[in-house]
Amino acid sequence: MLTPTHMFFAVALAYILKLPRIPALIGGLVLDLDLIFSLTGLGFPFVHRGIMHTAVFVIVISAITYPVFKKKYHSCSFVLGAFSHLSLDIITGGVLLLYPLGTFFVYNLVSYDNLFANVGICLLSTAVFLLYYSRPNFAETKNQRIIMFAAVVFLSLLISYIGAFIPYTI
Ligand SMILES: [Zn+2]
Repeated sequence: MLTPTHMFFAVALAYILKLPRIPALIGGLVLDLDLIFSLTGLGFPFVHRGIMHTAVFVIVISAITYPVFKKKYHSCSFVLGAFSHLSLDIITGGVLLLYPLGTFFVYNLVSYDNLFANVGICLLSTAVFLLYYSRPNFAETKNQRIIMFAAVVFLSLLISYIGAFIPYTI
């Protein structure tokens, strides 16, 4: 997906799990900073969807930034944002999640720049923001959070699946 979609989706999941939003936003954003590698010409793994789109990178960055965030929940939120990003990338072309292992994680549902999928997930996330903003005590219990989380993930997959039939791109 496009970077704003990653950010919206990460923050929506943080809302649902009652985690701080800013670290999730950063987690959803930071992996795509590897686009800058295209200017360097370094080659693999220093390419877009290379070393910065791996579990190792997320773990190392969350360990390095742990003293900055200071709170455990902030690091959890960052990891949530980063893994939500990787999940959306898996359904839009794939990533080498367990690099340096060579297994390519991909389940191509839709193109990363699909208009319907990107706008749909941003709108779904916005609906989540509005819901939790207007009703701060919504879905407080652990089970309710799990159901909401599963519902939003399912709807995002459904939106992506439908998007594949509507081939307009951004
Ligand atoms: Zn990405």
